[in-house]
Amino acid sequence: KAGAVAGVKHIKNPINLARLVMEKTWHVLLTGEGAEKFAQEQGIELVPQEYFKTERRWKQIQDILEKEKADSTKQGVAPQKHGTVGCVALDRFGNIAAGTSTGGMTNKRFGRVGDSPIIGAGTYANNSTCGVSCTGDGEYFIRLGVAKDISDMMEYKGMTVKEASQTAIDKLTKLGGTGGVIVLDKDGNIAMPFNTSGMYRAYIDANGDAVVQIYNE
Ligand code: ASP
Repeated sequence: KAGAVAGVKHIKNPINLARLVMEKTWHVLLTGEGAEKFAQEQGIELVPQEYFKTERRWKQIQDILEKEKADSTKQGVAPQKHGTVGCVALDRFGNIAAGTSTGGMTNKRFGRVGDSPIIGAGTYANNSTCGVSCTGDGEYFIRLGVAKDISDMMEYKGMTVKEASQTAIDKLTKLGGTGGVIVLDKDGNIAMPFNTSGMYRAYIDANGDAVVQIYNE
């Protein structure tokens, strides 16, 4: 099952709305006004846009706009840092769930949608292989269908979760994209490779052992 929303501006916790799309409709992806109307009908909390404004992000966009003025290519300046939150979980019955929530890219325009709400690109879960949540340059993750690719490499090539995840990151690197993935397979094995200098990440296993990491081990 899958559910996602994109292009919403007033939803306090879009991941809750994504879950309702999965549970209460026969659709997978709702966008913009329609998604917000569905939220109202479902009693989901809507907030004014001001709610999402933070000093750090405000400064970040001002910096990028400055750089853009000096950029003669006029293609837009891509941000260097990613701010997506993702999780993958496996329950005792063997059900795998993956969730990804993002503000997208700083300075995105023209109704741009990234990889996070695209099932198979930034998010994917399949009880017979693994669950995947991605962060990074969404455009590359969409082009490569990264999340589904990892599951497919496990399913069709018999790769381990570590091999499949690393292969996906190698493909991303080759194409010129940056980012990382968190992946958990049906047996509880974990892989979290990335090609940036660091990626905030953590896991807790069935024994309760918790690990938190930022840079390469
Ligand atoms: N992947 C997200 C996007 O492209 C951005 C991120 O991970 O920071 O929208």
